[in-house]
Amino acid sequence: MKLTRPAPRRSEGRPVTRFRRRRLAVAGLILAVTAIAVPTGATAHGSHNDPTADARRNVVGGAARNVILLIGDGMGDSEITIARNYQVGANGRLAMDSLPMTGAYTTYAVQKDDPTKPDYVTDSAASGTGWSTGHKTYNGAVSVLPDGTTAVPTSLELAKRAGYRTGDVTTAEIEDATPAVQTAHVAERSCYGPDDMADCPAQDVRNGGPGSIAEQQAALQPDLLLGGGSAAYQQVIKGGRYAGMTVRQKAESLGTEVLTTAGELKSARGHRPILGLFAPGNLDLEWTGPTPTEQGTQPARCAINTARNSDQPHLAEMTTKAISILDARSRHSRRGFFLQVEGASIDKQDHAANPCGQIGETIAFDAAVRSALDYQRTHRDTLVVVTADHGHTSQIVETGTTTAGVTATLTTNEGADLTISYATTEYPGSQQHTGTQVRIAAGGPQAASVLGVTDQTDLFFTVRRALSLH
Ligand SMILES: [Zn+2]
Repeated sequence: MKLTRPAPRRSEGRPVTRFRRRRLAVAGLILAVTAIAVPTGATAHGSHNDPTADARRNVVGGAARNVILLIGDGMGDSEITIARNYQVGANGRLAMDSLPMTGAYTTYAVQKDDPTKPDYVTDSAASGTGWSTGHKTYNGAVSVLPDGTTAVPTSLELAKRAGYRTGDVTTAEIEDATPAVQTAHVAERSCYGPDDMADCPAQDVRNGGPGSIAEQQAALQPDLLLGGGSAAYQQVIKGGRYAGMTVRQKAESLGTEVLTTAGELKSARGHRPILGLFAPGNLDLEWTGPTPTEQGTQPARCAINTARNSDQPHLAEMTTKAISILDARSRHSRRGFFLQVEGASIDKQDHAANPCGQIGETIAFDAAVRSALDYQRTHRDTLVVVTADHGHTSQIVETGTTTAGVTATLTTNEGADLTISYATTEYPGSQQHTGTQVRIAAGGPQAASVLGVTDQTDLFFTVRRALSLH
């Protein structure tokens, strides 16, 4: 079984002295400044190499040509720290750690029965509605107000209407809450396909509504929708002008190209809207490892998930391809693109108390962040935002101890033992989200909007301002 240990780092085996740490910090700073100062070469937009001007653009704002919004689902500070410790070491830094502007934002939802009161622990639907529409709503609601019927426009929809190219990428089912909040409006997140409409009578096509999440996505036709979730697209539409067709057939009849493998994605030209459905449900996990127990575990290593279906693209592959297609499609336009990317199974493996599953997804998400930052290096007028939708369960506890929940101990790449606890529910049972504020980091035009403590809904206005949307 192939281990995930990377090539040895130069610092391995050497104690990090105070002086060295300082030198590393200075080197990091120089690196960060260099990243800002790298000349943009032959790019058409924002070409200059004045670091002061670039720093000022981060602070003062200005228009962005493109926005790339990357969401680590359930990726609170604990999840970031656990992944960093395991992969690059306590003193290492992930790609997401390199963004120049960092703040925190609050994530609460509102109560369905009394929207004047907060629901302190949000789910992905309510939180995603916050940043995609600027409105608070109840847990389960997908870009509708707390009345369950009033649809409010999303940043992706507004961008599309304004002439930007748009994309929505996830490792989950494409109908799952986080991708859905940009591309659909339903009363309950479970309304994936035509067969799943019991909780969404107002949106049901048989009642004159816009249909399930998948039906609405097919009608919206962003340039790219990439993820899992082919099952709901096989369901047959029950009413309206597409009655009798599957949702996939509806999408194809409107001119969308459907892809089902990583190979097809690789060779896709992107001349038509692309719907990439790479699994019936969620995409497979990147890593596997020990199952935590009430008594803890012996120190163990994570391993690559060799059972992963190789026809499924990795998140970074999908992100790189999406950026390349959106960039090409907008090249001759006054408007650039808006892209949302979600690392979904950080959350799902936190629910499942699976530390290596969770870390592997966080590292895969970080690779997607690196892809976005690589693009930004030559396209300085791109706003990159990296954040989460809510906090989650996993905690770093004293090495080798047990808790009221379950723990597992992992030996990290730097050779130390890391004990992780899951204790927000009776085991076994799905671990819960938590109500903590989470990190939001950004670089590029309007990036300073994330500084300090803001709310999730403020992110909608940041994107709207950056792209001059109305
Ligand atoms: Zn969750």
